[in-house]
Amino acid sequence: MPHLVEELADLPPGFFDGRRSDRLFVRCIHTEWRHSNCATCAPLPSAVTKCRRCTGGEPVEVRTRIGAVCARHRRWHYAGADCDLGRSADIFRAERCLTGTLWERGIGPDTGELELATTLIRASDLRREDESHRTALARHYPEAVRLVALTTEPWAERFLANTNIGPIQVAALVEAAVNAVTAGTSHDIDAVRASFHAEGRETVIGLDQPMRLRYGQSPSLGELGRRILTLAPRVRATLLRHTDARKPPARQPRPSSRHAQR
Ligand SMILES: [Zn+2]
Ligand SMILES: [Zn+2]
Repeated sequence: MPHLVEELADLPPGFFDGRRSDRLFVRCIHTEWRHSNCATCAPLPSAVTKCRRCTGGEPVEVRTRIGAVCARHRRWHYAGADCDLGRSADIFRAERCLTGTLWERGIGPDTGELELATTLIRASDLRREDESHRTALARHYPEAVRLVALTTEPWAERFLANTNIGPIQVAALVEAAVNAVTAGTSHDIDAVRASFHAEGRETVIGLDQPMRLRYGQSPSLGELGRRILTLAPRVRATLLRHTDARKPPARQPRPSSRHAQR
């Protein structure tokens, strides 16, 4: 659609492609498979509604490097919302993490990881009222961002990508991570980092007491872990998605020009 509008309005090709700084990071050949906002391969993020105070009350969607929060006006603006955030430093810290660390790992507000994290955090909530993703995200934004940040760190990526690691070990990692980001302290988060390692065909899980598991053996899971186990394939696929390498896109031929149609 943007290319069609360019064509109809006689705008220069690429007018709606956005600035490079708007793009979501990807791994590609041009940077030796490191994450970057490569001018050729990096995509623009999905459209996000902007803060209504910033747009003078107009509903505006943009594809740029923003999350769910306007720090200037202290508003929550995700998916058309417009709510006051007061002084909750936790939410502004989460926004900086999303548009900083997570963005540079290729994770944006709508690439799937935050939705998964919100689902996982809600699985730990026994009240579990039915609520939409956008309501749930507004309630759990800081924890959801912390959970995505923790479970996409390089050690977690190595653990989740190791084909010797089974779904029960994945559920054990995610259970520990959810508990650490929701109820724990930064010490608990460090303990998760230190506790999950895969060495060849052996998994070492060091929570509570060190537990060395030969290939095929399983750690015991809590109630939350057993619930997470039912989501394990989705957990793994979603948390590893940002590591996929991109091939440079094939240039789409521009629609035949107006002049040719006359
Ligand atoms: Zn590239
Ligand atoms: Zn604003």
